[in-house]
Amino acid sequence: MSVQNHQPYDNQNIFAKMLRGEIPCKKVYENDYALAFHDINPQAPVHVLVLPKAPYVSMADFSAKASEEEIAGFFRAVGATADKLSLCEPGYRLIINAGPDSRQEVPHLHVHIMGGKKLGAMLVD
Ligand code: AMP
Repeated sequence: MSVQNHQPYDNQNIFAKMLRGEIPCKKVYENDYALAFHDINPQAPVHVLVLPKAPYVSMADFSAKASEEEIAGFFRAVGATADKLSLCEPGYRLIINAGPDSRQEVPHLHVHIMGGKKLGAMLVD
């Protein structure tokens, strides 16, 4: 079921379990505020997810409640992850699904970093 932007945080969601180390992940990068790991069902040759470590359901939740430090730490982690994956020169795409129309499935904010080939049109129906 799609995530609603303002639903309460569920600390049993799969990313919460990964952040607690209860479920393994293929880690790419970590700082004090964010964790990046490979998507289990990649939609591009490189498909990595970056999560804030603190419990935010959605972009709406994060942008309303996160501190300046958390926001900076999270977005720095996105840039550092793309750099570590050598995606800066060839280029890459960031996607944040938010709310029902986007089909966000996991109720913990995450950025998809996608690259490793020419990605084509931004949206396909
Ligand atoms: P979204 O639809 O934006 O919520 O994206 C959720 C993403 O999480 C999908 O791309 C899934 O493939 C990915 N995913 C779900 N479970 C795992 C897992 N255990 N490890 C890595 N990625 C996962």
